[in-house]
Amino acid sequence: MTQHHQFDAVIVGAGGAGLMAALHASKTANVAVVSKLYPTRSHTGTAQGGIAAALGNMEPDSWEWHMYDTVKGGDYLVDQDAAEILARDAIEAIIELEHMGLPFDRTPEGKIEQRRFGGHTANFGEKAVMRACKAADRTGHMILQTLFQQCIKNKVNFFNEFFVTDVILEDNVCRGVVAIEMATSEIHVFHAKAVLIAAGGFGKMFQVTSNAHTLTGDPVAALYRRGVPLEDMEFFQFHPTGIYKMGILLSEAARGEGAVFINDKGERFMERYAPTLKDLAPRDMASRYIYQEVRDGRGIGGKDYVYMDFRPETINRLKSGPGGKEVTREHLEKALPDILEFARVYLGIDPMKDPVPIQPTAHYAMGGIPTDVDGRVLADNSKAVAGLYAAGECACVSVHGANRLGTNSLVDLVVFGRRGGKHMADFCKQATFAPLPANAARDTAAEFDRLHAGKGHERPAALRNTMQKAMTGDVGVFRNEADMERALDTVRELKERYRNVKIDDTGKIFNTDVLETFELGCLLDLAEITAAAALRRTESRGGHSREDYQARDDANWLNHSMAYCAMNGAAVGVTAGDIKFDKKPVVITKFQPKERKY
Ligand SMILES: Cc1cc2nc3c(=O)[nH]c(=O)nc-3n(C[C@H](O)[C@H](O)[C@H](O)COP(=O)(O)OP(=O)(O)OC[C@H]3O[C@@H](n4cnc5c(N)ncnc54)[C@H](O)[C@@H]3O)c2cc1C
Repeated sequence: MTQHHQFDAVIVGAGGAGLMAALHASKTANVAVVSKLYPTRSHTGTAQGGIAAALGNMEPDSWEWHMYDTVKGGDYLVDQDAAEILARDAIEAIIELEHMGLPFDRTPEGKIEQRRFGGHTANFGEKAVMRACKAADRTGHMILQTLFQQCIKNKVNFFNEFFVTDVILEDNVCRGVVAIEMATSEIHVFHAKAVLIAAGGFGKMFQVTSNAHTLTGDPVAALYRRGVPLEDMEFFQFHPTGIYKMGILLSEAARGEGAVFINDKGERFMERYAPTLKDLAPRDMASRYIYQEVRDGRGIGGKDYVYMDFRPETINRLKSGPGGKEVTREHLEKALPDILEFARVYLGIDPMKDPVPIQPTAHYAMGGIPTDVDGRVLADNSKAVAGLYAAGECACVSVHGANRLGTNSLVDLVVFGRRGGKHMADFCKQATFAPLPANAARDTAAEFDRLHAGKGHERPAALRNTMQKAMTGDVGVFRNEADMERALDTVRELKERYRNVKIDDTGKIFNTDVLETFELGCLLDLAEITAAAALRRTESRGGHSREDYQARDDANWLNHSMAYCAMNGAAVGVTAGDIKFDKKPVVITKFQPKERKY
């Protein structure tokens, strides 16, 4: 039997974005957070490095420099009105977190301590600047704990381990969501005046990725199937420092503390490619240069990886420590405890004695659900969907453009999570509950009945592996037409085969078999859009690097790509129709596009 609930505001996802929105919405509205993970297990908890804000606690800094770095880092595809809000509001948001009790690292005088991160500079690109606020290398974990406690204090209602399958949209008005209670497989309908989607990223479409098993973009796919466009899906970030073969992330905080890339000849090769910022060049560039070294035969032992060298003697010899200062083993152990532990646990290497093998890993979705600066979801280039909001990695506001700077995601969550939460609270004050359609859960029930019946013969794990290999192999750091066409064909064939999937567990209690199969359907839709959007964009910009179109082409492509589901209003389950693409102009205010050099 379907269970019904009613709340002013429903937030899907309990990561940094969802909790920040819930906290602010709950000041006046009755709020429920529906999350497939227990809140403190959300992926925000893995964010190691830091959160950017031009506090200027260590050296002079300004929000305008932060805005400039964000726009340049995003290869001028960033909407500059949004980037200005990000950089200005970051300062206030950090102080707000501090006042909530977040245990930031401190300078001896008691100020919030900051460190360097890739692409963050002083005076419009002159030199690296210390802008990342941090709690050792556990910043995201501390954000989650702090916000969760505040939400509990504010009496937010949590529905943990509830899996959202569908968003109820009719006549351009959002009316709630449909979810499966994971413990029982029961269906729940949440009727709401406003819904905010904060479901995080969807990197599990790739084989080598820093993303957790749960990052599958289910509510993003649900909105697409219901007719909401997705923006800039071709821009997926590859982070340069995944642990070799595993993809597990060793955060850029390591390079902020002085670690450097070394090739097979023992050279610090970033000096050649980015003479000013060197190893602290933005991620898209560092990822490409690592592969360039590999292609030129300078990968370690001729293989497809290079070293990241954390050893104090290397850092001190190259004077790459923070502010050129000498570093000690004790300092590194204190500043990077989890990162050093990861290398020890996963590789059996002591990074204080030996360099660590790394390779680029799929990391962050720059694209997603289009929103305005108040988190309102856009039905097209300008019109908002009444009562529907999105924030965090699943949203595209767009402050990351073609390449996100490190530490700018956490700041995106808190700045736009807060704005979205506030706006939806105001919306709820004047809105009434739009009626639910008859049998709002019908499509979810039909899809789960089909999956439970398991009449087919295709194994979900085999389909998932094939998709992930195709995406990592053919829609990776370097891209070209032939490879991407092959990936697209593979994904489309997998979507056909998905119609015949068979699961083993037909029970009702914590049936992760059926839920993971449903997640696979969502990933297949998002992988198709990613590959198709990348194939269509015939230029190289930020994280989208084409071997067959190596130059940035502002004349034709200084615009966002918008992907619409041709079967607008499709039921739950993979889509079958073509993707319709459109363009949206980039908002340019202060900084005109120019060549991007570091
Ligand atoms: C290893 C790693 C390190 C990083 N380090 C940094 C860093 O130092 N600085 C920085 O700025 N950024 C960093 N990032 C990026 C940043 O952490 C993420 O982009 C950000 O935390 C995403 O937050 P979010 O709130 O959007 O989503 P998440 O924290 O991923 O939360 C998503 C939420 O949605 C819920 N959800 C998803 N699907 C469903 C569904 N179907 N039904 C119900 N609930 C659902 C989940 O349960 C979860 O609660 C890092 C990322 C990784 C992977």
